[in-house]
Amino acid sequence: MTDEEFREKYGRDPVKPGQHTKVKVYWDRIIIALILLILLIFGIVKGIMAIVGAIKGSGDDSSSVTDAAVSVSDESSPDESEDDSSQQENISYQFIVCLDPGHGGEDGGATDKSGKRWEKDDTFKMCTRIKEILEAKGVTVALTRNDDVLLSLEEICTAANDSKADLFVSIHRNSAEEKFKGVEIWVNNHEPESDTLLASNLLTALDRVGINENRNVNYGFIGEPQSNYQVNRQTHMPSCLVELGFITNDKDNELLDKNFDAYAEAMADAIIKTAKELGIVDEQGSRLHEGQYLSTKPQWDPATNTYHTEDGDVVYADAIDPNAEDKNLKRTDIPAQQDTQQTDANTDATQQNNADGTVG
Ligand SMILES: [Zn+2]
Repeated sequence: MTDEEFREKYGRDPVKPGQHTKVKVYWDRIIIALILLILLIFGIVKGIMAIVGAIKGSGDDSSSVTDAAVSVSDESSPDESEDDSSQQENISYQFIVCLDPGHGGEDGGATDKSGKRWEKDDTFKMCTRIKEILEAKGVTVALTRNDDVLLSLEEICTAANDSKADLFVSIHRNSAEEKFKGVEIWVNNHEPESDTLLASNLLTALDRVGINENRNVNYGFIGEPQSNYQVNRQTHMPSCLVELGFITNDKDNELLDKNFDAYAEAMADAIIKTAKELGIVDEQGSRLHEGQYLSTKPQWDPATNTYHTEDGDVVYADAIDPNAEDKNLKRTDIPAQQDTQQTDANTDATQQNNADGTVG
């Protein structure tokens, strides 16, 4: 068949061996199509990302609202909204607290095993940090010492009373054999409600952060329930003495270092909570109580060195514990020789004498 005949029969040219049909390729169109496709995919991806982002974004918003609600409710004010919490930053609490960093100067207090860590430094750092936190919330804070100096307990109590503070917190570190651990707080043995509230709020707050052992709120003086720590005797306002863990226990020291800011925050919050609960200030921080807030514990009169109840009765004249001052000077950190509450005063008193020797 000739090509002519083939064409007539099939309407096209015959394909010969080695000859390929030439297909016209429209490269320009393909390129344009590819560009359009890429643009389309790019657009779709961008669109999806925008949608996902929008969904995720609204999710974040809702979770941050939840977080805020949780943190507010953590402060046991479940009815406060997010707006209130932002307002809280502007709240200025109108009360005075006196913080007493235990020991100072040549009196280093207790020390750890290495002999490098001193109680006076831990207490000063902690009080300074609490002061910063409270001052940021408008609280007036007096420190019994502003640097590394030694004050007598007499001077500490006078400074506290002169500051007209509504609350007083003395901070110490405990010391004993290594097995003793945890936090305990001491309150006047007349068990005044206001002082007990302050102590239990502090202990609860610290316990919530995490302490090695909760050694409770205790009354009187270790081993001598009939006596008091001088700072709980001669201060007029609700007071307590915090033994912030044993400096002789590695785990207690580790916890203090790890939770340093959290402990400071917790104690600052507990102090504000107490001021509110005692009605010194309202929820907004405005002052409710007129004049200095006084504890119901017998009030010490420095002129006569006597103690008076609210009714003006003299409770005890001077001689409640003639040695108390001396003991307190050396023994704000008496090792607790037993884990249980001090029920056997005689045993404890003997142990304290031993302890005094070790603490020095
Ligand atoms: Zn101490």
